[in-house]
Amino acid sequence: MANVIDVDVVVVGGGPVGVTALALLGRAGLSAIGVEREIQPWPTARAVHFDGETFRTLQSLGVAERFAKATLPMASMHIENEEHEVLISVPTGRLGTQGWHDDLTFHQPDIEVLLQEVVEELPGVELRRGMTVLSVRNVGEGVEVAVQNADGEESLIRARWAIAADGARSQSRKALNIETEKIGEDAQWLVADGILEDSPGLSSDMIFLGHHTRPALWIRLPGKRVRMEFMLMPGDDPEEITTPAGLERLSHGVLPADKFTADRLATYTFRGRISQQWRAGNIFLAGDAAHQAPPLFGQGLCAGMRDVANLVWKLDAVKRGAADGSLLDTYESERLPHARFWVEQAANAAGFLQTTDADVARQRDAFIRANPAASAPVAPPLGPGLHEGGTDERAGRLGIQPILADGVRLDDMVGSRFLVATTHELYSALPAALRERLEDNDDVVILFDPAKVGQILEAAGAKIAIIRPDRYILGLGETPEDFERLVAALPQAGRDVPAHL
Ligand SMILES: Cc1cc2nc3c(=O)[nH]c(=O)nc-3n(C[C@H](O)[C@H](O)[C@H](O)COP(=O)(O)OP(=O)(O)OC[C@H]3O[C@@H](n4cnc5c(N)ncnc54)[C@H](O)[C@@H]3O)c2cc1C
Repeated sequence: MANVIDVDVVVVGGGPVGVTALALLGRAGLSAIGVEREIQPWPTARAVHFDGETFRTLQSLGVAERFAKATLPMASMHIENEEHEVLISVPTGRLGTQGWHDDLTFHQPDIEVLLQEVVEELPGVELRRGMTVLSVRNVGEGVEVAVQNADGEESLIRARWAIAADGARSQSRKALNIETEKIGEDAQWLVADGILEDSPGLSSDMIFLGHHTRPALWIRLPGKRVRMEFMLMPGDDPEEITTPAGLERLSHGVLPADKFTADRLATYTFRGRISQQWRAGNIFLAGDAAHQAPPLFGQGLCAGMRDVANLVWKLDAVKRGAADGSLLDTYESERLPHARFWVEQAANAAGFLQTTDADVARQRDAFIRANPAASAPVAPPLGPGLHEGGTDERAGRLGIQPILADGVRLDDMVGSRFLVATTHELYSALPAALRERLEDNDDVVILFDPAKVGQILEAAGAKIAIIRPDRYILGLGETPEDFERLVAALPQAGRDVPAHL
């Protein structure tokens, strides 16, 4: 075995989560190699929707406008029953709390190409396609990853850490003997992607068709693209349902045979799974390797993006000596319960919304009419970790992103650093030594201009807010004493450049 290479991180798998990890690692200044078996990005879509938080992660790669061009903000979504009664209708066209639309649709291959471009433009990181990872092992203080190229030649990559983003069938997870827990019932669905021309489609950008005779989903994508998904039912003829006439029948004419050109028809098993362990020594599971959710809330990929947004700034801080290595334990403790929440929500909602029993469907409709808010879960806080969520239920949650009067989004000003948002008065009340420590900390930005941080403090209901580089709230406070406590909770910084705006 030749070619031993030393880098900070090896990323196993070049799907959207692995490539986003590489891009974030490159932005942070770490060296990394991604290894992907396939020569080309996967040509067909799975995910079609992400949320404002995910877009904020893409924003942190510095090329938000490129991603904006490839996405379509969703203007409306609704849920209807067999009788076409609209049970829930959500206007979604506004900018949300993340400084982007709350719901955006896209064609996954477009996003994957953009992510790969970002990696190609960054020094220190590289995606190697056409190479298969044979094994990932913890060795001493790091990892060894054996890889094989298309000619069968093997080589070894040594790194301090590995991120295993090798998808739902993750070999890395299996080799580490990490069990996955099944959540909810598996269901088989036909997914149809393609171009719909000279035909109106359905009225909303996303409609969940809660038809008990055949649950289905409609989504309008950028350009003329549309996606429909149909639950497979007993008695379906697998060949007939994938013919143009079969699709016209399943869709009740929404995809007319002469107007819809499918570029992908695939049957998927929608499943809920959560890996029991996300860290084994210096190897971290991320994305579908760690969790899989039925796509009902469109959160599978979003959760994977959250994984790497949570992990990469911690790896960077530990690498620079700005934080203790124990910070890396908070990846699993924070992310696993959060991801589990979405898997459970999607699995429960799948069982409920996608019923094929007419009586249960009637009960469902009555329940939704009486409790419309119950169909839209509110994102949970992180699990225990580097935040005060254990004592303050406002902490450990995602903070908002203000858009300033000149159109600048605040994250672009803060970068991948901790934001200390407060008032001038409170800041001045801190002991001089503490202020000096904060101002000497290159990982911290201190802002007290109400035009910049007023909305953050108002939304949190606090006078002091410390927001982490992944935009989650570390803690909140009111008094100088709170301030001292919160500052003490920051990881120890090692660099010496004041970051006081
Ligand atoms: C029909 C459908 C609809 C969905 N809709 C949504 C949605 O709207 N919103 C949403 O957020 N999510 C959605 N999801 C989920 C989303 O698609 C996945 O969560 C996401 O694609 C997972 O990305 P990943 O990078 O973790 O894994 P993958 O995309 O599976 O990537 C893993 C990569 O690892 C590579 N690999 C594996 N083993 C090796 C090896 N040994 N060596 C080298 N390379 C290897 C594979 O080739 C692959 O490219 C949907 C899923 C489905 C099936």
